[in-house]
Amino acid sequence: MHIAHTIAALRHARTTLADGKPGPHLGLVPTMGALHAGHRSLLRRARQECDLVVAFIFVNPLQFAPTEDLARYPRTFEADCRMLEEEGVDVLFAPTPEEMYPNGNNTFIHVTGIEGRLDGASRPGHFTGVATVVAKLFHIVAPTRAYFGQKDAAQVAVLRQMVRDLNFDLELIACPTVRDADGLALSSRNAYLSADERVRALILSRTLQRIASSIAEGTRDAATLRAEAHALLSSEADVVLDYLEIVDPDSLLPVVVANPGTLIAIAAKVGSTRLIDNLLAP
Ligand code: AMP
Repeated sequence: MHIAHTIAALRHARTTLADGKPGPHLGLVPTMGALHAGHRSLLRRARQECDLVVAFIFVNPLQFAPTEDLARYPRTFEADCRMLEEEGVDVLFAPTPEEMYPNGNNTFIHVTGIEGRLDGASRPGHFTGVATVVAKLFHIVAPTRAYFGQKDAAQVAVLRQMVRDLNFDLELIACPTVRDADGLALSSRNAYLSADERVRALILSRTLQRIASSIAEGTRDAATLRAEAHALLSSEADVVLDYLEIVDPDSLLPVVVANPGTLIAIAAKVGSTRLIDNLLAP
């Protein structure tokens, strides 16, 4: 695996390697590192579907508010490289913040409206940081396919809108959420949880499962489903709900009726750790 820490090195590796490949597809898997089986599923899918695979590891300062966990975000570069090698990644692009934002950054991507919904409402500026770094990355790497996790459903919606609006010539592929056997959605931030918090955190996936069961039994009224979920969530101590939303998966706007494919998204703090999870209504 080639490791590029600079934009120039990445472009050089991309051009040299792409020349020798049988087909045209370049798959990009953007991550913040601290890789787990969720990331692995994206890498594997990209490897299956593309001729050249580029992974990106970058803890993007632009998407963290000053009060958030940028400094303590888990960094496990060597183990990450091992996973990328195992999954047959061709190139790892791992720039420094100075390389991505030399002399600061004065150009920002605002996906207006949608960037202020779900996590964008709780984390003002977050999706501007995400959209800006991903737009830069798309220009630098020029992938034909980019792989993201459905776990971050609002991120997928924001980036899909950006790809449409800015005419990026690529396919954005959303991959299913990978979970632990007990249902907890894998996340690099799960590393922050104590054993006790890890058990409490199961309330997120349990709540989503309860909503899915209610829908399967015929309850599709969003207000009824929300009330049921709130009742369940309030039963768990030390879990503070941030949002529970039943929304259109593209616009992220609330719906009155949960039709098949409607996004049910939840964010909560378990102790000091903010976790998110979601599912699409059956
Ligand atoms: P992150 O490193 O947390 O920024 O995540 C990098 C990519 O992996 C994003 O597209 C995430 O949505 C995706 N991802 C994170 N956790 C999971 C998971 N449990 N299942 C599937 N994809 C995931």
